Amino acid sequence: MTAEAARAALTEAARAALCDAYRTLGRRGLMGGSSGNVSMRHEDGMLISPSGITPERIEPGHLVATGFDAPAPGASSEWALHAALYRADPARGAVVHTHADACTALACLNEPLPAFHYMVAGFGGDDVRCAPYATFGTAALAETAVAAMRNRTACLLANHGMVAAGPTLEAAMAAALDLEMLAGQYLLARSAGQPRLLSPAQMGAARKRFRTYGANAPA
Ligand code: 13P
Ligand code: ZN
Repeated sequence: MTAEAARAALTEAARAALCDAYRTLGRRGLMGGSSGNVSMRHEDGMLISPSGITPERIEPGHLVATGFDAPAPGASSEWALHAALYRADPARGAVVHTHADACTALACLNEPLPAFHYMVAGFGGDDVRCAPYATFGTAALAETAVAAMRNRTACLLANHGMVAAGPTLEAAMAAALDLEMLAGQYLLARSAGQPRLLSPAQMGAARKRFRTYGANAPA
């Protein structure tokens, strides 16, 4: 295989994986209508979902290849959010943004997800921060999200939704799905009473366990 053919095969595989992720978010109820977007670092820039598409209609050919300096025509309106997150941390390989119900409900209270469950430690800290509100699709939103994601794999976006990232698309998807599950559990606990929060020492111990958790899971 020539280097050119190998590159084309990689691009096709990335398009298929992103399309599959977008459809999965729709199937799992994290994406209503055309809200949300997904991307993967690709060559010198990224491959990102197109603006305004539903999970029912997306096809691999719809993914848009774009650089970090300016959006290519048709790219998601949140292109700047994705680009800023890649620029801020070279270890980020994929980004998932959704308006998933529980995360969005909590973000509309402008509250972080606190240390109510040990799994919150899996996002890198003692809580999942909530970035202050900024208009969708703006550099201001990108900036607040980058700050809220410092040393973290996810954050809430006030009055908007959530964003998750990871070294791979699989990791970013897992973070998005876990965060929505946890936000739902937190709201459920809050509706029944006042959840008891874990201490920083308890969260630190959980974070330590996460370093080796799942290392031997079947592929
Ligand atoms: P796009 O359809 O442009 O990706 O935007 C959806 C969205 O979530 C905006 O914040
Ligand atoms: Zn959005």
